[in-house]
This record gives sequence, structure tokens and C-alpha cells, in this order.
Amino acid sequence: MNDSREREWLDAMRRRLEERRVELERLRQQTLRLLSAEGASQADEGTVASHPADAATDVTMAEIEQSVLRTIEEELHEVDAALERLANGTYGYCSDCGRPIERARLEVMPWAARCLSDQERFERELERRRR
Ligand SMILES: [Zn+2]
Repeated sequence: MNDSREREWLDAMRRRLEERRVELERLRQQTLRLLSAEGASQADEGTVASHPADAATDVTMAEIEQSVLRTIEEELHEVDAALERLANGTYGYCSDCGRPIERARLEVMPWAARCLSDQERFERELERRRR
């Protein structure tokens, strides 16, 4: 691939990462608003204990929102790290083996930090540690 096509490709990846970042930030704000609304409605009721069923539902919703928030923040972190790699010229290279990440893979997942085989190894490792 020649230099100008390489630059065009990198620009396209940067635009996609920036768009994803805006989207994730919007989702994060939305989830934070939901979470603070949950907190406010619980405080307003003041008699949570007399509504055990309601309380149980609130806890579950808040837990779901917390876990959604964590997922969003993890992805934001990955997108930011990819934008950083674009800025310092290491974008597109596997963080584990240093070889170029498959282009098709990056086009599906512009924030990918590892080549497919290292990503699979990494996930197996995480899975193993979780057990
Ligand atoms: Zn690799």
C-alpha cells in the first residue's frame, strides 16, 4: 500500500473511532442520567422497606445499569487507546507480537489492539483466571 492510500485508510479509521467515541459518550451520559434518576426516586420514596418488591426491582435495574456503564467505559477506554496509537504511529500493530493486525479485523473493530490469534489467547487467559 502506498503512503497516500495508507494515510487515507488511517484517516478513515480515525473518523470511525471518533464517531464511536461520540456515540459511547452519549450512551454513558444517558446511563448516568438513568442511574441518578434511580437514586433520586429511591430517596423520594423514603419507605423503600415497606415496598420490598419495588426495592428489589430498583436494585436489579441499578445493577444492570452499573454493568452497562462498566461495559461502555471499557469500550471508551479501548477507543481512546486506539486514538492514542493513531497519534503516536503504532496504530494497526499487535500490542503483544508487534505484527500488523489484519486489516479486515481492524475494519470490523477499529479499536482492536491485538491480532486475532493473540486476542484469542488473551481471552482464553482471562477466562482461565476467572474460573
Ligand atoms: Zn499478535
